[in-house]
Amino acid sequence: MTTPLEIAIVGAGMAGIACASQLQAAGRQGIAIFEKSRGVGGRLTTRRMFDTCVDRGTCYISPKGDRFRALFDRLIAANIVETWTDTTHTLTKNGDLLADADIYPRYVAPSGMNQIAKYLAKDLDLRFGQRAISIQPDGKLWRLTLEGAEPTEILARTVILAIPAPQAVDVIAPLANILPEEFLNDLRAIEYYPSIAVAAGYTDAQLAQWKAVYPQVRSITCTDDPILGWIGLDSSKRQQPAPPVFVLQSTPNFAAKYPNPEDVESASRAMLERAQERFLSWFPDCQWQQPHLWRYAFPKSPRSDSYLSIDAPAPLFFTGDWCRGWKVEDAYLAGLAVAEAISR
Ligand SMILES: Cc1cc2nc3c(=O)[nH]c(=O)nc-3n(C[C@H](O)[C@H](O)[C@H](O)COP(=O)(O)OP(=O)(O)OC[C@H]3O[C@@H](n4cnc5c(N)ncnc54)[C@H](O)[C@@H]3O)c2cc1C
Repeated sequence: MTTPLEIAIVGAGMAGIACASQLQAAGRQGIAIFEKSRGVGGRLTTRRMFDTCVDRGTCYISPKGDRFRALFDRLIAANIVETWTDTTHTLTKNGDLLADADIYPRYVAPSGMNQIAKYLAKDLDLRFGQRAISIQPDGKLWRLTLEGAEPTEILARTVILAIPAPQAVDVIAPLANILPEEFLNDLRAIEYYPSIAVAAGYTDAQLAQWKAVYPQVRSITCTDDPILGWIGLDSSKRQQPAPPVFVLQSTPNFAAKYPNPEDVESASRAMLERAQERFLSWFPDCQWQQPHLWRYAFPKSPRSDSYLSIDAPAPLFFTGDWCRGWKVEDAYLAGLAVAEAISR
């Protein structure tokens, strides 16, 4: 086992990288982020597929508070994000398509939403393909067991689990007899809604028809629909010309009927058929489609504090969007709050 890290962060989503970059900017050293997947961003993700890139997680961002807006000022100056639209739409139960009254910029990254995460993470020590499976005390340190190409153990003086609470509950299973019952119950109380996101590619002729029927319409929230929650013209975020792509997001109740990744193809078909009923007849006739099941998409009842923590035998923090809300801004602020608590 190597020298202990000062700070080990689990999860390279927005909360984890915001926390690490803030700590590093404050001069802290010996920080590493362990991420189970092969890239940064978590649910702020982008996948390359069929000669283009597609955002199947976070679709756009509208900063609300000053701190997140300041990050966006930097992202705009660095040409990473730009306004996608300032008007979104709602499809009512009766089939009326209404322009939403609240007009303000919805920002996207034309090269993919994960560029936002990459920008923040550029100077961080990121270790991909490393899934934290358990944590245990080791004297005055924490010992983290990681599953990767080979199982590894690392020691750290402080550990931050910047992952959805249900996943953190699994990692801390060995601490069941150490952590106060009330603390464990607070963590176990956090549940997530699932979501299925489908990316589907179309022809230029199909896109031209969409534009004729729905001019300037890029983002539609479907209210009271049993299957579709949201649909967006993803390719309109990209540098033009771009291959036509739509992203469809399911409602949580619909996704809950398909808990197994192998069932997601049939869910995808049902979603495209629903888009046929609600929008245009050719939705199921796509060139290609790629569904993704988000088991932990949106926290059901987020907390109102930025993190949970305990101090013995060493500092251990739990954070993520679930601490404050359900958006990227919440994850960002939660990560910063942990960094500030550590720096105090
Ligand atoms: C379909 C969808 C659409 C959305 N649309 C929007 C939107 O339009 N606007 C908006 O603001 N927000 C949106 N959100 C929400 C937003 O994506 C999240 O709030 C935010 O990205 C959460 O960041 P996080 O860091 O808390 O968690 P995550 O992004 O989930 O990051 C956690 C990271 O930890 C990793 N991880 C988990 N367990 C382990 C482990 N044991 N070991 C190692 N690594 C682990 C994961 O791989 C992941 O990379 C959307 C989410 C979804 C799913």
